[in-house]
Amino acid sequence: MPLQFNNQFNVQLPADPDVTNQPRQVHNACFSWVKPTPVKAPLLVAYVPEMSVMLGLNEQEVNSQWFTQIFSGNQLEPEMKPYAMCYGGHQFGHWAGQLGDGRAINLAEVIDIDGNTQALQLKGAGLTPYSRTADGLAVLRSSVREFLCSEAMFHLGVPTTRALSLMLTGEQVMRDMFYDGHPEYEPGAVVCRVAPSFIRFGNFQLFAARKELKELKQLIDFTIEQHFPHLGKRPQQGFDIAVYERWFDEICRLTADMVVHWMRVGFVHGVMNTDNLSILGLTIDYGPYGWLEGYDPDWTPNTTDEQGKRYCYGNQPQIAQWNLYQLANALVSIIERTENLEQSLTEFADYYQQQSQQMYAEKLGLKNNKGESDQKLINQLMENFGLTETDMTIFFRALSHIKTTQNYTDDNLIQIISKAFYQPDNIDNKTKNKIIAWLRLYIERLKQDGINDDERMTKMNLTNPKFVLRNYLAQQAIDKATTGDFSEVKKLLNVFRSPYDEQPENELYAEKRPEWARHKAGCSMLSCSS
Ligand code: AMP
Ligand code: MG
Repeated sequence: MPLQFNNQFNVQLPADPDVTNQPRQVHNACFSWVKPTPVKAPLLVAYVPEMSVMLGLNEQEVNSQWFTQIFSGNQLEPEMKPYAMCYGGHQFGHWAGQLGDGRAINLAEVIDIDGNTQALQLKGAGLTPYSRTADGLAVLRSSVREFLCSEAMFHLGVPTTRALSLMLTGEQVMRDMFYDGHPEYEPGAVVCRVAPSFIRFGNFQLFAARKELKELKQLIDFTIEQHFPHLGKRPQQGFDIAVYERWFDEICRLTADMVVHWMRVGFVHGVMNTDNLSILGLTIDYGPYGWLEGYDPDWTPNTTDEQGKRYCYGNQPQIAQWNLYQLANALVSIIERTENLEQSLTEFADYYQQQSQQMYAEKLGLKNNKGESDQKLINQLMENFGLTETDMTIFFRALSHIKTTQNYTDDNLIQIISKAFYQPDNIDNKTKNKIIAWLRLYIERLKQDGINDDERMTKMNLTNPKFVLRNYLAQQAIDKATTGDFSEVKKLLNVFRSPYDEQPENELYAEKRPEWARHKAGCSMLSCSS
């Protein structure tokens, strides 16, 4: 047996005594025992070699029947005592009560080759007590999206859950992709995802809402001991209140860091409900996410959120803070004082602002962050982005080509970044002049830093990716995979392994979104129904 098991969550925390697999309210428990539903004809579509190596699996093992059976949910190792987690959450700003793992089943926790704990979780492996009226399944479309995006995010340096494998189940699943009364059969699939823990804000919230304080305290102590060991050794009676407060402060910072990364690479999560926020500050639950193409703070890929735009790109920092408020509200039933929690929440805004400014300074290749005047430069740039549709990823990458040593004519200057514009021929003179004026200000600012042009380019290219998982690229891979051709899934997995490298042979994958993809389903519009 190649995997090294180390189950903790389902050993240390209270289980639901009811072992039937019926939808129900589950009280005083962190999880319910539930087995994956066997599938007809599992087929390994793709796997992540570096993840299998990390888990101690060699190539032969990954390509074996054993692997396919285990990670499709057809077979269990004796050490696997699978379970679905119980949690609640605020959905779109409203308390939704119990939600739970409706289509995720945790197989086990294992120790990776670095000695770290990793939980293995199947997504789409069948009904659980938390499936409510849904089917517990996932389709190939959404599974390819989760599989590819979580890995792309990892290689971009964004904190995230990861993926091990993508399986077809050999079964058909009915989905109404746009909730418009046109359901269709789609191929079923299961992703095995991997993270040190899948605990969410909502796990704590549900106990607090139900006043199940003993379990709430147990879960808090468990989470700190297992996942925040640097906060101290756990005393018999549990951690001190001061430790809880330090822990919350750390969650605030981890969450802020995660969102700064999202903003840096132009990622829009799409459903930042509190059940979709990881207590470890990892990007979790890849559903109707999307990538900014034309820079637009109001853009959301989620059609369910088209009206309110609650989870649009530009709102993500505030929503993160709002979610942290909800978490604090849950923790206060144990902490019983609010000053320090409130302070952490207030500091979230300052910390985010600081980190965000630093992030933009790095994107611009500025050596010293000059505070207010640099913030002005950044704000002006964002305003310019609004004047003509500008691809954020291509813009920052192109910007690194500017040389402070050169005397540019206006035309030469704008030429450097013109491939970032979606309609370069339709830019009016006023806009053009604003863009040129900004570029000239930028060059002046660079000169103040005195950093060598080549050195600056190298640095900028470490923070401004060349390759992001543009929505249409994922869709192309999905379209091919649906016909049984998985080559594009594997190709993308490979391209996004080195998103900061030039990869001249893959230039095609760095191009801006083609016009046909502007309004195509899956490329610009997605729903939660996956
Ligand atoms: P989400 O917003 O997609 O993270 O999902 C919200 C809740 O709905 C979670 O409790 C999920 O487990 C549940 N859910 C989503 N899709 C399904 C499905 N196909 N079957 C069962 N539960 C689901
Ligand atoms: Mg979710």
